Amino acid sequence: MKMDLAIRNGFLFDGAGNPAVKTDIGIRDGYIVRIGRIDETEAERTIDAKGLAACPGFIDMHNHVDNGVLAFPSVESYIMQGVTTSVTGNCGASMAPLDDESIELSRRYLAPFVPSSEKADWKWRTNAEYMKAIEANGTAQNLAFLVGQGTLRIAVKGFSPSAADDCEMARMKCLLRNALDDGCFGLSSGLIYPPGSFTEERELLELAGELARCGGMYATHLRNEGNFLAESAAEAIEIGRRWNIPVQLSHHKAVGRPNWGKVHHTLRMMEEARREGVDVCCDAYPYTAASTTVTSLLPPFALEGGVEATLERLRNSSERVRMAEEIRSKGCEWENWVAGARMENIFISECSRLPDVEGKSLREIVATYYSGRELLEGLFDFLADVECLAKMIVFAIDENDVKAVLAHPLSCVASDSWASAPSAGGKPHPRGYGTFPRFLRRYVLDGGLMTLQEGIRKITSMPASRIGLQDRGLLREGFRADMTLFDPDKIRDRATFEDPHRFPEGIPYVLVNGKVVVEEGRLADARPGMILRRA
Ligand SMILES: [Zn+2]
Repeated sequence: MKMDLAIRNGFLFDGAGNPAVKTDIGIRDGYIVRIGRIDETEAERTIDAKGLAACPGFIDMHNHVDNGVLAFPSVESYIMQGVTTSVTGNCGASMAPLDDESIELSRRYLAPFVPSSEKADWKWRTNAEYMKAIEANGTAQNLAFLVGQGTLRIAVKGFSPSAADDCEMARMKCLLRNALDDGCFGLSSGLIYPPGSFTEERELLELAGELARCGGMYATHLRNEGNFLAESAAEAIEIGRRWNIPVQLSHHKAVGRPNWGKVHHTLRMMEEARREGVDVCCDAYPYTAASTTVTSLLPPFALEGGVEATLERLRNSSERVRMAEEIRSKGCEWENWVAGARMENIFISECSRLPDVEGKSLREIVATYYSGRELLEGLFDFLADVECLAKMIVFAIDENDVKAVLAHPLSCVASDSWASAPSAGGKPHPRGYGTFPRFLRRYVLDGGLMTLQEGIRKITSMPASRIGLQDRGLLREGFRADMTLFDPDKIRDRATFEDPHRFPEGIPYVLVNGKVVVEEGRLADARPGMILRRA
């Protein structure tokens, strides 16, 4: 029987870190069926990969594609980068499970991240239902889900800051078990975001016990990536130690100039923990700017009760005084972006209510639209006026730290972005279009931080093994045919902060489950992606 496709004359990087070898790859029914010489007559179709690197499709260890895949099923911002699988549902915020009573709180909180689309009808409640909704609509990319600790907590106790009692704890554990049964690969947390920020370590430890029982990993956006980076890393490592479960420190970095360099310490902590038997790794994006929702500019108390309660506080003068005091106070334990990065380094990236501010810094916005107002007063006015429906980009990371983390053997690469398309507008962080080609161009091929085979390992087999994918992340006979073909001389990111909706160059072919999704550098309108479910 003929093969469906043969990729001939490419340099095969197997994803395991082995050096390249010139060979052919044969694909049938979505699987790699042969690696070795293939005659043109043996396949229905041939792609000539002369001069190209042929490697496993890239796997993004940390993103939020789940938010937008119903609106953007072609996932073109990722597919064009060669990313064939996303690990999603991160930072404590998954799209399920949802509870009838608290669904509006979740919807409102996630509003800046979930593009409006008739497909995103919020009718699902469980992860299984959400997965089915995506399957019905189709996806170009494979998706592996984590369930969010914040999402579990909202379902049980809304945005209440109080500790969970025994009954609430039991309900959260039950929801977690159900999510793992639905096929989620583990639990994510986002401990700077409500209600993760209200969660004590004890609650996390109890939930992690369920991961140990059912099998699953713990990925965490640390409680603090700035002044308390080491303490926060220690908290995450302790969870892995206590339950002997894999722990992933998400988008690892040190935020704020006074904290630059601290990643050397946390990387050593990770090495040490591994020597003691804790399976801890991290991931990172290749940029010196972070991006998140504007609500995280506010101190945790301001976020109690959900976004509507936050908006009321923003309109209340005595609450404003309290918020301003907490933002100005020295040595606060919450992650204070305004203090860490300063308002001239924080830019609004997307704001549907007031698109004119996109690309402007908070300082500029206050000066332009709230002139005469004191900076924080102007910021509160702005947040109230746009009802917190905005995202921001914060320049607060040191390039040397980015290099140190990316170069470290314990890191893999992650975009921390969401599904987008040029039609989405705004000025989102360019990582959504550029992470993987930028990593390869700037840090591997030009920067020389590692060999190309090692760089490819970090974006293929390493994330596959972190999440526990048995048949992806390597080019082996019998594995799924997720593949990315790129030109090492030409691959580069083109997305910039000024002009972020630009696809990269030098990636002429991408295959998902054996189907061509990028053809001669152009998006093919195909949706062969699968929802991956934990065995
Ligand atoms: Zn995060």
